[in-house]
Amino acid sequence: MKTQVLKPNEHSLKLAGELIRSGELVGIPTETVYGLAANALDGEAVMKIFKAKGRPSDNPLIVHICDLSQVDYLVKEFSPKAKLLADKFWPGAITIIMPCSENVPSQVTAGLDTVAIRFPSNKTAQAIIKSAGLPLAAPSANLSGSPSPTNAAHVYNDMKGRIPLIIDGGESKVGLESTVISMAGDVPVLLRPGGITVSEIESVIGKIVVDNGVTHMLADDAVVSSPGMKYKHYAPKAEIIIVKADSESYAEYVNKRYEAEGAGALCYSEDTEKLKAPYICLGEKEDYSSQAHNLFSSLRKLDDMNLKKVYAHCPGTDGVGLAVYNRLIRSAGFEVIELA
Ligand code: AMP
Ligand code: MG
Repeated sequence: MKTQVLKPNEHSLKLAGELIRSGELVGIPTETVYGLAANALDGEAVMKIFKAKGRPSDNPLIVHICDLSQVDYLVKEFSPKAKLLADKFWPGAITIIMPCSENVPSQVTAGLDTVAIRFPSNKTAQAIIKSAGLPLAAPSANLSGSPSPTNAAHVYNDMKGRIPLIIDGGESKVGLESTVISMAGDVPVLLRPGGITVSEIESVIGKIVVDNGVTHMLADDAVVSSPGMKYKHYAPKAEIIIVKADSESYAEYVNKRYEAEGAGALCYSEDTEKLKAPYICLGEKEDYSSQAHNLFSSLRKLDDMNLKKVYAHCPGTDGVGLAVYNRLIRSAGFEVIELA
C-alpha cells in the first residue's frame, strides 16, 4: 500500500473523511500526539488499527469526538462530575472514561464496560472528525512499543506501507498523550498523567485518586485499571536509565562512564556545559511544557545516535512534570539510580 502524506486542505480533509467512512485508517494530527484513526463504530475497521500498530488487542482505544452532543450515543451515563470536566477542559488534552453504551464495538473497549472519550482542540483533528461524520477511535500512530509520534515524519517512519494517508498538521503542541481520568467508579481516578494536571482537575471536581501504576511498576499479575499501564512503552533502541541526582553529581556520574559504555545523556540546559558525553537536551529543568514537547522526538533522535545506554536526568514530578516522569520511567523499564 502506498502511503500519501498531505497537508490539510479541502481536498485532503475530504479524502480523509472518505477513507475513514470506507473502513480505512488515517494518520491524524492532534495537540497531544498524532493518532491512527478509524471509524469508532466499525469493529472491523478498528481491528486494522491493532494490526497496523502491532498493538495487543486487550489495550482499549480512545474515541475522538468534535462535538459534545456525540457523547450521549457512546455512554450509558454522562455524570454531572464528568460533565464538569468536559465543560472545563474540552476541547483539550484530557480523556474521560465513562460507562459505555451498547453502540461502542467491543474492539474499541477491549471488552471493558467503559469507553474512553476525548474532544481534541487541534482544528485539523476536529475537521477530520467532522469530515468523516463519525466518532474516531485513535491510539497514538506509532508502532506498539515505540515513542508516540509528534510530527507527520514520525508517523510515516512507523506506518509507511501500512496506511493509505497521513495528514501533516505540523508539530503536536503538547507532545505527550492526553491525561486519562476514569469517572466510571465512585471516585475519580487518574490513570495517566498528561498536559492537564492533577491540581487543575482537582480545582474543578475536588480530590481525585492517582492510580499507583502512574509512578510505580506493577507486578506481572497485577489487576490494572487501565490496560495500557502494564506495557513497557516508548522504548528507544538504547537502554535508558534514569539518574536521580543534582546537576553536578549527574554530570560526574555520566562523565565517568560514557566512554567505556558507549553511553549518552538525556538532560536539561543546566547540565549541558558539565557533560562530556553526547547528549540531547530536553529544555530548562523547570520548564515541564518544553520537556513534554521534546521528550518523544528526543527519544527518537537517541535512536539515530547509535548509543548503547542513555542516562536520563530524572525530571520533577509536580504539574506536567508528572506526565514527563510517567513516560520516561516506562521508557527506562522503571530502572532508576538514585545518587545520594
Ligand atoms: P493511546 O491511545 O495509545 O494513547 O492509549 C490509550 C490509553 O487509554 C491506554 O493506556 C488505554 O489502556 C487507556 N484506555 C482506553 N480506554 C480505556 C478504558 N475503557 N478503561 C481504562 N483505560 C482505558
Ligand atoms: Mg500509545
